[in-house]
Amino acid sequence: MLLKSETNRIKEFKQILDTSKSIVITTHHNPDGDAVGSVLGLYHALKELGYPVIAVTPNGFPEFLSWMSGTDQVVRYSEKKNIATKAILEADSIICLDFNGFKRTEEMGDILAQSKGKKILIDHHPTPENQFDLQFSYTEVSSTAELVYEVLSSTFGSDVFTTDSAICLFVGIMTDTGSFSYACSRGRTFQIAGDLISKGVDVERVQGLVYNNFSADRMRLMGFSLNEKMRVFPEYKAACITLTKEDVKRFNHKMGDTEGFVNLPLSIKGIIFSVLFVEHDTFVKVSLRSRGAFPVNMVSQKYYNGGGHTNAAGGKSFMSLSEVESNFETILKYYSSKLNE
Ligand code: 5GP
Ligand code: MN
Repeated sequence: MLLKSETNRIKEFKQILDTSKSIVITTHHNPDGDAVGSVLGLYHALKELGYPVIAVTPNGFPEFLSWMSGTDQVVRYSEKKNIATKAILEADSIICLDFNGFKRTEEMGDILAQSKGKKILIDHHPTPENQFDLQFSYTEVSSTAELVYEVLSSTFGSDVFTTDSAICLFVGIMTDTGSFSYACSRGRTFQIAGDLISKGVDVERVQGLVYNNFSADRMRLMGFSLNEKMRVFPEYKAACITLTKEDVKRFNHKMGDTEGFVNLPLSIKGIIFSVLFVEHDTFVKVSLRSRGAFPVNMVSQKYYNGGGHTNAAGGKSFMSLSEVESNFETILKYYSSKLNE
C-alpha cells in the first residue's frame, strides 16, 4: 500500500486532528467531481468519528455533483464570505484537497495564507507549493479521492467509510479516471473502488446521477459544439472547440454544462491533443487534454497561466477569443514534432 512507509506522517495527521477544535476541509475554485467527492468523502468519515469538521469551497458546483449527500452543509465562500472567512481564520487545521497552491482557491487564497491553522495537503498534482505543514502528495494516484481513501484507511482502519463517504469518494475516482478508462487507473485504483462498492455504492445509480442527468439544452450545446465549433488539425493530431459567450447563452448555459466537452475530440482516430476555449467576460477559460506522453500541463503553464496533470490541465487566457484561436495555431506549429513523435 502507498502509505505503508508513512507511519510518521499518518501519526502526525492523527495528532493534528485530535488536537484541533475546528477542522476546515477545502478544495480548489470551480470544484470538479474529484474535488467535491474528496471534500465530502473526508467530511462524512471525520464527522462520523466525531471530529469538528466544516467543509468550505471557494464557489458553488454544478448540478451533476449537487445530489451528493452533504452538499447542503458545504459553506460556499462566494455566497457566505463572512462565515467562510471566520471558519478558515479560526480553524486549528485546514485540510487542502485536490490543489497544490493557495492561488487555486482564487480570492480565498489570501485568507488561507493568513490563517494560523495547520495546513495539511492531500493531493495528486505535481510540484506542490511550499505552503503546507504536512503533505500527502502523490502524482501516481488516479485522483485525490483515491488518496483520501489511503490516508483515512491508514489512519483509522478500513471501517472508517460510511456509505455516504464511500459514494462521494467513488464519485471522485470515477470522474477523475473517466469511469476508469484513463491511464491513471491502476490496479490499486480498482481495488479501492471495489472496496468502496462493498461499502454500499450503487454504481449504476451513481453513473446515472453524474453522467445521465443533463438538460436537453446541454445536449444541444454539445451537438452544436461538435458540428459547428470544432476544428480538427490532423497534421498536429490536435483539435479544438471554441465557444463564445453568445454560444453558451443561446443554449441557456448553466455551470458545468461544458464539462467533458474537451474529451470529445479525443474519440477521433489519431487525435491525441484536445483543447476547449470558453469565452467569459474578462478571460477565456482553457481546458486541455491529451493521450500518451504529450504534457498538456506544460502547455497550460507556458501559455495559459495554468497547470494540472500530464493528460488533463486547465488555465486562462486574457487575450481576445480570436487572438486565442490564432495563437493556438502558432502553439500547434511549435509543438508539431512533439505531437508527431
Ligand atoms: P479542467 O479543464 O477540468 O478545468 O481542469 C483540468 C485539470 O487541470 C484540473 O483537474 C486541474 O488539475 C487543472 N487546472 C484547471 N484549471 C487550472 C488552473 O487555472 N491552474 C492550474 N494550476 N491548474 C488548473
Ligand atoms: Mn483531481
